[in-house]
Amino acid sequence: ADTAMYQAKESIDKNHLYYQEKMRNRLETNKKIKEILREALENDGFKLVYQPQVNLRTGRAEYFEALLRLKNYNISPGKFIPVAESSGLINEIGRWVTEETIKELAELNQESINPIKISINFSVKQLHDAGYIDFLEELLKEYDLNPGLLEIEITESILIKAEDKAIEFLNKISDLGVKLALDDFGNGYSSLKYLSFINFDKIKVDRHLGKMFLDNDQKETMASLINLFHSMGLPVVAEGVEELVNYNLLKNLKCDFIQGYLFSRPVGRDKLTKILNHNFIKDINL
Ligand code: C2E
Ligand code: MG
Ligand code: MG
Ligand code: MG
Repeated sequence: ADTAMYQAKESIDKNHLYYQEKMRNRLETNKKIKEILREALENDGFKLVYQPQVNLRTGRAEYFEALLRLKNYNISPGKFIPVAESSGLINEIGRWVTEETIKELAELNQESINPIKISINFSVKQLHDAGYIDFLEELLKEYDLNPGLLEIEITESILIKAEDKAIEFLNKISDLGVKLALDDFGNGYSSLKYLSFINFDKIKVDRHLGKMFLDNDQKETMASLINLFHSMGLPVVAEGVEELVNYNLLKNLKCDFIQGYLFSRPVGRDKLTKILNHNFIKDINL
């Protein structure tokens, strides 16, 4: 019995040490990432890559989603955005993304005949950036940009965490003429309630929800969801589409846009200009 007790205690101690070690490693990693982010803000260490959202009627990439990358590190935003949020660096990073995108939009729309629209991601923590709306308004003026070319993507969590404040903040953005998209719909609470309070222009259906409905032969459910949004006057983007069979299904269901590896991974600024007038659907039908 003594031996068993001893072994149990030893195992608990080991476990304890293991978790302590794991926790310490995580804290150290986060500290490192925080330093990397701070350095990137100071030394131009961020860049944006752009993923096309293909209009299924025209085959053209009418919108691009700007996605943040570190120039010198292979750390995904899934890892560094949470650190940016918890360390308070997100506001400054968010402003950098906003300014960079507005600059790009101003430049691109001088070069191209078809209007190019770009969406950026907005973290719930940025609701605390009280000066953001003035900042945004100033930039739009400075670059003389049609605000309708910029879209801000927000996830459902923004609506749960700070209801009234969030609604006011977002409607101010919408009043500037900037578009609002609800990102990752179906990944969280999926409250339809907020759709009437906030002037959304577009719905992006989360990759996992779309995949579940299409893979599990719940096409009727996907059809109903798309129809519901259409009845509210909202175009629908299917996120993360990788397979041809799902493109065909979504096209039949009158989904408006597809964003996914099937058409293109996010691309750098240099490649962006090349695919502006590309017909993605022609590729597929070949
Ligand atoms: P998100 O806004 O939902 O962006 C879409 C993510 O799905 C991107 O990942 C994109 O590369 C990925 N994706 C696109 N098509 C496919 C596909 O066919 N299959 C698969 N498996 N994935 C696909 P990424 O770039 O790693 O970004 C992850 C998340 O990080 C974003 O999700 C967004 O929530 C956040 N994020 C990225 N950039 C920013 C930013 O500038 N600011 C903030 N606040 N968040 C950002
Ligand atoms: Mg997004
Ligand atoms: Mg998304
Ligand atoms: Mg997503």
